[in-house]
Amino acid sequence: MTSVNTAIKLSSRAEAEGIQPGTRSCSPDLAREPWTFDAAVGYGPGASMGDSAPAATPRQPVLPEEYRTASEAELDRRIRAAQETLGDRLVILGHFYQRDEVVQYADFVGDSFQLARAATERAEAEAIVFCGVHFMAETADMLSRPDQAVILPNLAAGCSMADMADIDSVTDCWEQLEELFGTEPDEHGRVPVIPVTYMNSSAALKGFCGDNGGIVCTSSNAAAVLDWAFERGQRVLFFPDQHLGRNTAKAMGIPVEQMPMWNPNKDLGGNTELSLQDSRVILWHGFCSVHKRFSVAQIEKARADFPGVRVIVHPECPMPVVDAADESGSTDYIRKAIAAAAPGGTFAVGTEINMVNRLAAEHPEHTIFCLDPVVCPCSTMYRIHPGYLAWVLEALVRGEVVNRITVDGAVAGPARIALNRMLAVRP
Ligand code: SF4
Repeated sequence: MTSVNTAIKLSSRAEAEGIQPGTRSCSPDLAREPWTFDAAVGYGPGASMGDSAPAATPRQPVLPEEYRTASEAELDRRIRAAQETLGDRLVILGHFYQRDEVVQYADFVGDSFQLARAATERAEAEAIVFCGVHFMAETADMLSRPDQAVILPNLAAGCSMADMADIDSVTDCWEQLEELFGTEPDEHGRVPVIPVTYMNSSAALKGFCGDNGGIVCTSSNAAAVLDWAFERGQRVLFFPDQHLGRNTAKAMGIPVEQMPMWNPNKDLGGNTELSLQDSRVILWHGFCSVHKRFSVAQIEKARADFPGVRVIVHPECPMPVVDAADESGSTDYIRKAIAAAAPGGTFAVGTEINMVNRLAAEHPEHTIFCLDPVVCPCSTMYRIHPGYLAWVLEALVRGEVVNRITVDGAVAGPARIALNRMLAVRP
């Protein structure tokens, strides 16, 4: 199967030549190489292009010309040569949402947490090159040894969802909640609020949770983590993804009326004291622009076009989409569900297009397609390209570490506490 990026380029060329394109993408800029956007403000083309990036978002310095102008074959030769030279001193991690052109070099492919743990299992690796986004590299840095360097090939590969909750806004929210609820436990020993952060958040927010009796969750263990939190707290402050929080809590039987949303730009998050007093889960006003694209109308069309289709979506999708699907679950859940199905199945999948197309290629015994007919990859995953990978690897061969991601010890200590609380939770 043609990779997502090749399909976008072919389609864009066909369009320019007046030929009917076979693929529609959400932005013609996706056909350009990511270094075109490194100097620009914003996330670049793809699903997050409409989101406003914070001023402090890291920028990628200019990629040397030799990597911008090298052919695909030349980059392939140089990347493989560097891998050969570095041997076991190097481990390359590729996220499920990463383009195939990069994933082909990965020693491990997985979700953010699987990859961070995979890195710790390669004790001999001195360099961990994380082909994912910024918060993933931070987590890998916190879980790896201090002498292991975690490298993000393009510093502009952030995450628009993670950027929607920053430490100052969350601290301000926390102070308002403490003023409203106090800090004393109830007669069952439960404190007024437990902070829970999704893995897709900055290290600073994981540290905030570690410092304030809170915990981290992934999309695989969110329900078990909420159970843990409700044993210790009367309610939960869940950030940054409102959809994962709402979908998980609703499936646990918590009424949506008891899940007010916290808008950091409004006093009390835009809520009344009464609605906060009555709340069980306070949801941060954040979302993933990749998963926000999926709709109930797309599910209805899939069911009309493919009777008997099995619709599986990620819990970062809005609640009506999760409700209309047959199943929802993490990337790991989606992969396992498809792998376990009897041959001849038809699956409409609501998650990032690179992963869906890879699943389709890996499972020719099934018909697998993305619910969204418009190709719109994650903007920030797209920022990683073989050109950057060749650049960081050849620097390592010369003994230079570029684009290292490090988390300050004062943040990493409490963040590890929150991560370890999560690891101790049994789903
Ligand atoms: S898919 Fe969504 S949550 Fe994942 S890195 Fe991209 S923007 Fe962030």
